[in-house]
Parts: sequence; C-alpha cells; structure tokens
Amino acid sequence: MPKTNKYPKIAIDGPAGAGKSTVTREVSRRLELKHLDTGAMYRAIALKFYRENAELTDLAALEKILKRTSIEFGDKQTVYLDDEDVTEEIRQAHVNEMVSTVSAVSLVRAHLVELQKKIAGESKGIVMEGRDIGSRVMPDADFKFYLDASIDERTRRRRIEQEEKGLSMTEEEVIAEIKNRDNIDSRRKDSPLTRVDDAILIDTTKMTFEEVVDSIEETVTKGLR
Ligand code: C5P
Repeated sequence: MPKTNKYPKIAIDGPAGAGKSTVTREVSRRLELKHLDTGAMYRAIALKFYRENAELTDLAALEKILKRTSIEFGDKQTVYLDDEDVTEEIRQAHVNEMVSTVSAVSLVRAHLVELQKKIAGESKGIVMEGRDIGSRVMPDADFKFYLDASIDERTRRRRIEQEEKGLSMTEEEVIAEIKNRDNIDSRRKDSPLTRVDDAILIDTTKMTFEEVVDSIEETVTKGLR
C-alpha cells in the first residue's frame, strides 16, 4: 500500500537532462507507485522506425508499423520492443538524434498518448514522466510538477550519465543534442513541451537529487492528508 493510503496520479514534465528519470524512479519507489517513462516509449518507436528505415512522411507505412509494434516494461525499467530488450540501445546516439523528430509526428503521438492514458486509467496511482503528461496525457493528475535546470547544469548531468554508460561525447556535442531536442520538443504543433499553469515548477539547478525527491514527496504526502 502506498504510505499515503491513496492512489495519486503524479505528472512530471520537463526538458531533456532536467533529472526527470532518476527523480521519478525514486519518487515512485518511496511512494510505492507505478512508474512510467513515456520518453522510453518514444525512444522505442524511434528505434523501430530506424531499423525499418521508415519514411516519416509516409503516414500509411508508419501506421502499419505502429500496429505491429509492442512496447513493454519489465523489472527495473527494462524496455522491450517486440519482446527484445532494447533498454540500452534506446539511449544511444542514433536514437537520440531522431527521437524528437519522430515524436513530433502526430500519428505517433496519438498512438502513444492513447496507450499512456490506458495505462494511467488502469493503474492504482502512477508517477508518469514526459513532456506532455500534465497537459495531455493526465490533465486531471492529482499533482503536476515541472522540473527544469540551467542548460549548463543539464549538460553536466547528461555528460556524467553518458560517461557512466561508457559513451563519450564532448561538451559541445551534448549541448547541441540537448538544444536540438528542446527546440523540436517545444516548437512542435502537437502537444509541445510546456509548463501548464497548475504545475509546480522546481528549478533543480542548485538542488541535490535528494532535495528534489524530498520536495516532491513532501508536496504529495501533505496534499493527500
Ligand atoms: O525523456 P526522454 O529525454 O528520454 O525523451 C526522449 C524524447 O521523447 C524527447 O526528447 C521527446 O522528443 C519525446 N517525448 C515526447 N513526449 C513525452 C516524452 C518524450 O515527445 N511525453
């Protein structure tokens, strides 16, 4: 049972490198709630299109691919694309480079948003992270947070993450990748990255990971009393 005794729906949005994934994982662990990383779903679809050499303007072909594609999550946020473990590959450069372009295709968004809404509806409480969770996937969420950080800090965190995975990228490459994704994500027509009015903004630039998680946990726990 979650220690709050209720089953809140919690939306966590924000740009690339703001720390959403690690924070969401820990918040869901502490509150004993399901965790859904919607970015991983967009990444899995991008990987599928990459492998199939899909033409992003050929909507009929994309629809066919989407219909025969399955995305599942296992323990410890393992991601399965058609039963294959792609947890590591979806974080690699070839996926990073195309994921925002794939995510801007309305057909892809409609497909994944429907799936995410279904998961939210069937869950007894959930912490869902992404770009449009508070605005589109769970506009009725009990709690909405928007995590942000300066571009320098986001770059620094991303580089550490990459190093841990044994991938080496220069600072310039990381900044270019983050800025490119931010640009596409916030300018696309269909549910762009945006902070909705009822989301609590947390600027994590000068905060530790613990402080961010504590602040979310406290808001949720207090709000449910
Ligand atoms: O969260 P992450 O950085 O892994 O997300 C990868 C990409 O997936 C984002 O840059 C964005 O293009 C897309 N995305 C999205 N909507 C979401 C989650 C992710 O468009 N809800």
